[in-house]
Amino acid sequence: EVRVRFAPSPTGALHIGGVRTALYNYLYARKTGGKFLLRIEDTDQNRFVPGAEDYIKDALDWLGISPDESPWNPGNSAPYRQSERKSMYMQYALDLIEKGHAYYAFDTSEELEAMRERLTAARVVSPQYNSITRTQMKNSLTLPEDEVKARLASGEAYVIRVKIPRKEEVRLHDLIRGWVMVHSSTLDDKVLMKSDGMPTYHLANIVDDHLMKITHVIRGEEWLPSAPLHVLLYKYFGWEATMPEFAHLPLLLKPDGNGKLSKRDADKHGFPVFPMDWKDPSSGETAMGFREAGYLPEAMLNFLAFLGWNPGDHKEIFSLEELVDAFSIERIGKSGTKFDINKAKWFNEQYLRAKSDEELSAYLIADIEKEGLSIDKEKAAKIAHVMKERATFPADLWKEGKFMLIAPTSFDEEIANKKWNAEVVTVLRTYIEKLASHIGEFTPEIAKAVLEESAEANGIKLGKVMQAVRLAVTGVGAGPDLMAVFSILGKEELSKRIKFALD
Ligand code: GLU
Repeated sequence: EVRVRFAPSPTGALHIGGVRTALYNYLYARKTGGKFLLRIEDTDQNRFVPGAEDYIKDALDWLGISPDESPWNPGNSAPYRQSERKSMYMQYALDLIEKGHAYYAFDTSEELEAMRERLTAARVVSPQYNSITRTQMKNSLTLPEDEVKARLASGEAYVIRVKIPRKEEVRLHDLIRGWVMVHSSTLDDKVLMKSDGMPTYHLANIVDDHLMKITHVIRGEEWLPSAPLHVLLYKYFGWEATMPEFAHLPLLLKPDGNGKLSKRDADKHGFPVFPMDWKDPSSGETAMGFREAGYLPEAMLNFLAFLGWNPGDHKEIFSLEELVDAFSIERIGKSGTKFDINKAKWFNEQYLRAKSDEELSAYLIADIEKEGLSIDKEKAAKIAHVMKERATFPADLWKEGKFMLIAPTSFDEEIANKKWNAEVVTVLRTYIEKLASHIGEFTPEIAKAVLEESAEANGIKLGKVMQAVRLAVTGVGAGPDLMAVFSILGKEELSKRIKFALD
C-alpha cells in the first residue's frame, strides 16, 4: 500500500510551496488508493512558533486536502508529532554507533569554531566535519575508549554524528530526476542527536519514515542535497529493502524567474504566498493569504497543481477529482516553475464564472448587507449574473456592481468631454418618451430594440452614442452588458437616471 507524508516544521506560516507539496502527496495517495499522512517535525524547539500547527491544519482543511492520518486524526502510526516521539530516537542513534556508522563527539562550540577558522584560513570553500577533520577533533573515534566512557559517565555534553565514508559513490534514484550520483567526500558527518537529547531532522525523518512505512517521499527540491545522507542512513540501519522512493519537486521561482519565490516577493508585488492570512506572533504583522484575498479553494488547487505538473494536453480546468485521475509523478517537470499570480487570478475567474447565479448572489447579498443596504434574492442573482464576467474575486461583484443599486451622482468627466453631445441628448430624450409608453416585460432585447428605435427615429447611428448612454446611466464609460443592466434596473429607475443625467 502506498503511504506518503507531508512533514512540515511548525516554524511559521505554511508557504505556498509547502501547500503544493501537500497537494502532490494528496493526489498521489488518492490516485494509488494509498494513505496521506501528516507528520509535524517539531524537533527544533528553538524555531517552534505557536499557532503554526493549527494554521497548517486549517489551511489543508480549507483546501479540502486533509490528511488521512495526522496528530488530530491519528492512525496506527501515532504519535504524529516528533516532539511526542522524542524517546524513540536515541536507540536508533545508539544502534548506528554499535554498527560503526556513528560516533559520539564532544567538541565545544569554540572548538568547532576554531576548526572552521582554520579551514577557512586554508581556503577550504565549505568547511566540514568529515573524514579528514574528524581525526583532529574530540570524539569517540579519536579518544581512548576509557576516556569516552568517563566523559559520558560524567554527563559531559555530546552529540552523535554519522560517520560518512571518505570515498564512496552514493547513488540515489529520484522518480523525477532519474539517477543522481554524489561522492561521499562532498558530505559531512551530520549531527544525528543533539546535545539536548533531541534528534536532528535527518535522524528523526528517516526513523519516522521507516516506522510509518512511508513508500514515497515527495518533497521540495531544497531537500535533494540531504537525500544522499538519507540513502546512507537507510543502508546503515539495514532498511534498504523498504527504502521509500524519492520524488523531489521543482523549485517555485520568483515571477521574473530569478531565484526562489519568497515572502518578500509577495510583499513587494502585493500578492499572497500563504494560503490564509497569517499573523506573525513575534512581530504581530499580518501577511495576506489567498483565502482572504478572495481566491476560491478549488481555483487554488488547480493553480498549484500546474506549478510543476501538467497533464500533457491542453486541458487546464481540473476539479480535485479530475486532478487525482490525471495525476502522475512522471509528468512532474525537473526545472523550476515561475510563480505567475496572473495565472492564479485567471483560474479564480474561471471557477467564479462556473458558479450558479444563486451561489454568487450569496456573496453579493452579504456585501450589500454589510453596507446597511438590502436587496431581494432574485435581483441579486440577476446582478451576479451580469457582473460575474468582469469579476476576479467574489468581492468584485459588489465593488464593480455598486452602480446597480446606487444611481450615479457624478460622471466620468473625460468620457463626458469626449462623448457627450447634442445627438446623445436627442436620443436619450426620445428613449425616455418611448419607455414611458412601453408596456409589458422589459427584457434586455426590448431595452435594446427601444433604444435602437430612438436613435433611428432621429437618423442617428446608435453606435456613435452608445458610450455616452452608458455614462448617463452608470456614471462611467465601461462595464458589463448594458442592455442587461437596463433590464435589471427597470424602466422607471432607468428613466429617472437618464433624466438626472440630462439635467
Ligand atoms: N520538515 C521538513 C520540512 O519542513 C520535511 C522535509 C521532508 O519532507 O523530508 O519541509
